[in-house]
Amino acid sequence: MNHDEAVEQMAVERYLLGALDPGAQEEFEEHMFGCPECALDSRVTKVRQILLNLAPRDRSLLKAIFLEQRDRDEVCREFGVDREYLRVFLRRTKQECSTEYVRRIRGPVPLDA
Ligand SMILES: [Zn+2]
Repeated sequence: MNHDEAVEQMAVERYLLGALDPGAQEEFEEHMFGCPECALDSRVTKVRQILLNLAPRDRSLLKAIFLEQRDRDEVCREFGVDREYLRVFLRRTKQECSTEYVRRIRGPVPLDA
């Protein structure tokens, strides 16, 4: 996924609302970490901050999967975690990211939409 595709598909909005299908979600995550334009988006910045607040091992886990696009079984072996841990961890992190977004859009400043 390149940046134009991300914008066209409203990937940031749909990602934060958990509305992307799993394939598109992974593609967007891979894109988001390496994209200088997405880095300027305050919502993406927040998500990145959440990710940066993770324990170093968990952050390395995410990095191995989304940035380096490593095989998940191989990553589990290397980090000494099982697939269930990885699954729960990824889901929890994504939930945290969408919760942050929901809090923002329900905050005191109304959106025009
Ligand atoms: Zn981008």
